Order: sequence, then C-alpha cells, then structure tokens
Amino acid sequence: MAIKKDKVDVVMVGLGWTGAIMGMELTEAGLNVLALERGDMRDTNTDTPYPKAVDELKYSVRGALFQDLSRETVTIRYGVADVAVPYRQHGSFLLGDGVGGAGFHWNGMMYRNLPEELEMRSHHEQKYGKKFIPEDMTIQDHGVTYKELEPFYDFSEKVMAVSGKAGNLNGKIVAGGNPLEGARSDEFPTKPLTYQYSASLVEKAMRDVGYHPYPAPAANASEPYTNPYGVRIGPCNYCGFCENYGCYMYSKASPQTTILPVLLKRKNFEVRTKAQVIKVNLDASGKRATGVTYIDAQGREVEQPADLVLLTAFQTHNVRLLLLSGIGKPYDPVTGEGVVGKNFAYQYNGGINVVMPKGTQFNPFIGTGAGGVGMDDLNADQFDHGPLGFIGGASIRHVRYGGRPIKQAGTMPGEKVPNWGSEWKGSVQDAYQRTLTIGISGSVMAYRDCYLSLDPTYKDANGQPLLRMTLNWKENEGKMLTHIGNEMEKVGQAMNPEKVVKAIRKTGSSWDTRVYQSTHLTGGAIMGTTPKNSVVNKYLQSWDVPNVFVYGASAFPQNMGYNPTGLVTALAYHSAKAIREQYLKNPGPLVQA
Ligand SMILES: Cc1cc2nc3c(=O)[nH]c(=O)nc-3n(C[C@H](O)[C@H](O)[C@H](O)COP(=O)(O)OP(=O)(O)OC[C@H]3O[C@@H](n4cnc5c(N)ncnc54)[C@H](O)[C@@H]3O)c2cc1C
Ligand code: SF4
Repeated sequence: MAIKKDKVDVVMVGLGWTGAIMGMELTEAGLNVLALERGDMRDTNTDTPYPKAVDELKYSVRGALFQDLSRETVTIRYGVADVAVPYRQHGSFLLGDGVGGAGFHWNGMMYRNLPEELEMRSHHEQKYGKKFIPEDMTIQDHGVTYKELEPFYDFSEKVMAVSGKAGNLNGKIVAGGNPLEGARSDEFPTKPLTYQYSASLVEKAMRDVGYHPYPAPAANASEPYTNPYGVRIGPCNYCGFCENYGCYMYSKASPQTTILPVLLKRKNFEVRTKAQVIKVNLDASGKRATGVTYIDAQGREVEQPADLVLLTAFQTHNVRLLLLSGIGKPYDPVTGEGVVGKNFAYQYNGGINVVMPKGTQFNPFIGTGAGGVGMDDLNADQFDHGPLGFIGGASIRHVRYGGRPIKQAGTMPGEKVPNWGSEWKGSVQDAYQRTLTIGISGSVMAYRDCYLSLDPTYKDANGQPLLRMTLNWKENEGKMLTHIGNEMEKVGQAMNPEKVVKAIRKTGSSWDTRVYQSTHLTGGAIMGTTPKNSVVNKYLQSWDVPNVFVYGASAFPQNMGYNPTGLVTALAYHSAKAIREQYLKNPGPLVQA
C-alpha cells in the first residue's frame, strides 16, 4: 500500500524553468507548494564550481547532467506502420534531469515569437487563402495573442537579465535592434553582449545582402544586474562552456541563478528530490485530480494529495504523464480523433559553413551560449511565401559557442578527412581559427501522422510504458530549408571567403536521431480554443480536469523557428496570473467550453 502524505495546496511535477516560475508565483499568493523532482538537488556552488564546471568529457560527451536513458527514455519511429525502438544514447535531443531541469545547462537563447506565429492558421488562411495549407497539416492558432503575452515576455526577460537591444519599442522602430520583432513595452534589461570578430563579419555581410541583423537576445547577462526577485547576476566572461554546463559565473540565467535563491527560502515551499511521479490521481468522476503518486528514493510508492496539480516536467514527460493518468482522450492518427499526443513537432535545422582565407584568427574559444548576431528576414511569414509553396521559416544566427577541444574542434568543412591521425590533426588545425557557421533554426509544422503515444512494448525501470515518438521530416520543411540555405549562401559569399560549404539536408531525407540538432521538442498537450482541438486552454488548464495545468512546449500547436523558452516562460507567467486572480477565487474552468 502506498504511503500517504498530508495534503498540500499545490503539487508540481518537476523543478525546472516552469516549476521554478510557478513555485514563485503561487507561494507569493500564499499557497503551500511542493515540487517533486525526480533528479538530484543541484546548485552552482556545489555542483559546478570552477574548474570542475569546465570538463568537456564529463558534461558534453558523457552528459553528466542529463537524464539516465537506461532507466527511462522514449522510443522512436518514422511512421505509423513502423515499430519504434528505444533512444538509448543522447543524440538528436538532450533530456534534462535534476533541480533546474534543462534550464541549468541550456544555452540561453531567449526569443519572443513573431506575432503571426501565435495565430498560425488564421494568419495564413487570411493572407494566402484556405487552400494554401495542405490538408494533412494540422497547424492551429495558440488561442492567445502576442499582445496578451507581451507583459509576460517582458517580465521573463527581466527575471533572466536577458542581454539585447530593442528594435521595436511600443511600435516605434529604433536603430540597433530587430526591426521585425513584435512591439516591446521596454528595453532589454542588459545591453547586448559584445560581438566576437566572426559575428561582426557576419553582421556586415547580412547587411550588405540587404537583411536586418541584430544582436541575438541572450540570457547570458552582459553586465551586473539585479532581477525583480532581488537576485544578483554577474556578467558573462565568454568562457565557452555554456550549453551542457552550469554557469560558474552566475551569468547564464537558470532557475538556480535567478529564482531558486529566493524560492528555496520560502516557508511555504518544499522540494523533494529523487521523487519520480508516475501518475496524476483522479477522483471517481475522473474530472478532478486528487494529487499524484510518486516513487521515492527508497523505491516506495507515495501518494501526495493536493488541490492543484501542475505538470512542469518538460514537453515529453508532461504528455506521457497525461497518457499514463488517463487525462484527456489519446490522439488517433487514423481517425484524427482525440487530442493527447497530437501535433508533435520538432525543428528542422541546417547551416552554412564559411571558411575564411588562411591567417584569419577568430579565437573561437571566446564564446557564449547565446550571444552573437541574428536576423529574422526569413523567419515565419516575414517574406512572401506565395510563390515559394511552403509554410514557415527560420531564425538565423551566428553564435560562437566556444572552441572546446573535443566537440568544437572540427575538421575542414566539405573535405573527407580520416577520424584520427596526422591528416585529421592537420585538418583541425587548419579549420579551427578560420571557420564559422551561420545556423538556420527552421520551423516544423504539425502533421496528422506525427504524434506521441505510449509504446506497446518498451517500459521504464518502474515498469511503465515509455513514450513513443512518431515523426519524420516532410516536404514542406525540405523546401523551406533549401530556400533559406540558398539565401544564406549569398551571405557567406558576401564575406569574401575561401569557400562556403552548405550543410543543408536533402528534401526527402529522414530524421537522423544520432546527431544533435536541438532540444526543441513541441506539442502533444497543445493549447487551443476548444476541447475538440486542444488539451489545454489559453491558461494551460486541462479542459478535462480543471485542477490540472500543463506547462512547457507541450502546449505549442506547431514548432517555430525560434528557441522555445521565451514562449514557455511567458505562457507560465500568463497562466500564473489567471490562477492567482481568477482560479483561486473560483476554482473551475477559466474558459467555458
Ligand atoms: C543543451 C540544451 C540547450 C538548450 N538551449 C536552449 C536555448 O538556448 N534557448 C531555449 O529557448 N531553449 C533551450 N533549451 C530548451 C530549454 O532548456 C527548455 O525549453 C526549458 O528548460 C523547458 O523548461 P521546462 O520547465 O518545461 O522543463 P525542464 O527545465 O527540463 O524541467 C523539467 C523538470 O522536470 C523533471 N521531471 C520530469 N519528469 C518527472 C517526473 N515524472 N517526476 C518528477 N520530476 C520529473 C525533470 O527532471 C526536470 O528537472 C535547451 C535545452 C538543452 C538540453
Ligand atoms: S559563456 Fe558566459 S553565461 Fe555561459 S557559462 Fe560561460 S560565463 Fe556563463
């Protein structure tokens, strides 16, 4: 029999970005909040002090901070008729674990969406006509607009000390920023990071070709800053050990460097680590959650009663918990009925490698997780898609992450070089100082046959079915990447290089799960305007069980060219306001179905 704990007001599953935000907001409202985190406690000073933090073998190669895939993973297949197999080595995407979640070891690229991306279907139908959207493309509007979310984007950026330059302040275009962005109510909290030499070359080339480059917004603080919670953040020193690592300079925003120093001290907040939630418990009606069940560090089953259950466990885990708990109807790709698991999407990335003449010295070891130069001229619907015959686009940027010796010291692009020996060494030496990459982070639309479900065969260490991903690349995305790759080649050529080598997938190629491309998985518990088209409403509240809320990129109806965390955090703050100001006074659905 399960151990039964005393009831709390709120139980959260996971303590990453969304858990930290919701913990802060709901303890502030006077509620008792308990976070159940399956991983270890983590803090900067104890877990990643210098020089322990800068160990590439430990963190980037062996993935010390990531989920243990031998205990729990996902299975993957390309199509509905295929048999899925388990993902046992971190490759295409990296799953976080432990306090701070993936937010402890992310890069810090902190974008807002373009307004049209939140109204994807209606925008495209209005501009290009209904027939422009293919029948099997199941994209839809989020049900919340950029204007509604703007104050919450703004607050997230202040919490995270994001560095950058506004390009559109209250509708007025200002020099130095991104003129294509949605209107902002305020400047970025910290000034832009300094461009490395390679970024200044790319910036000039983008401008010469006629685009509108701007300093990429980065949750790597550029100057000392105190956030709205009173937490002090130090300036980034461009150490080059950012993504996959904790920031020993307290400069990269993470729950640890921005929220937890305050939240962990609150008497009405508790975190229990090594607590793996296995399901949300429902009452006899199935319409109300009574709490959750978890497995504790000793392997015991524990029942944790609560009035409110928040799934803050990351996109994949949220969807799996909904399916394991029987909340909402699972999606069926054959009939198109059901919603849980629907509209699973990813990102479709590529890049342009530019090799400058011999003697160029980029000093690539000076790097940050997110600082550099970006452009949005080919993102979302910022260009005419009519004659091109595809939907979507890409955010484009050159960010110098670092020049680390194992994974960031590549051989000469476009040349066939052995994996070891003097020829390999010579090629690395030649390429290291004079090669740069312009990254293309492409959107991916939602499709009828790309979805998430429970695997019928494989189980985790607790005997529960793994989550199964059914996904492959589609022609629409292939056309998008080809077009953008060709455009970016022009930027590379404008730099007067020795050569430009495109790294663009061929249309029709399949998802290569071995190669990292991003941890920007989306969908499966999508938001929308009715229970028929979505799992949650605009406040991330479950239509079926109104005292369950689901946070994170599982809510996105399709993927976008941008990194997700800006929208993830804005949606969390938007939801928190609705819980505090409406739900607590009158617990029940915040939107009538
Ligand atoms: C290497 C890397 C780089 C990235 N860079 C960027 C970037 O530059 N820009 C950007 O926008 N995004 C980036 N991301 C993505 C970003 O980290 C996520 O969008 C963000 O962390 C999501 O927040 P979350 O709260 O949904 O999940 P997380 O922050 O991952 O937190 C979820 C937590 O829930 C816990 N959990 C899961 N299941 C259970 C369970 N059953 N029981 C108890 N606990 C559970 C996990 O252990 C984890 O701690 C990156 C991700 C990675 C891995
Ligand atoms: S690059 Fe800057 S923000 Fe990133 S880990 Fe190093 S010091 Fe921190």
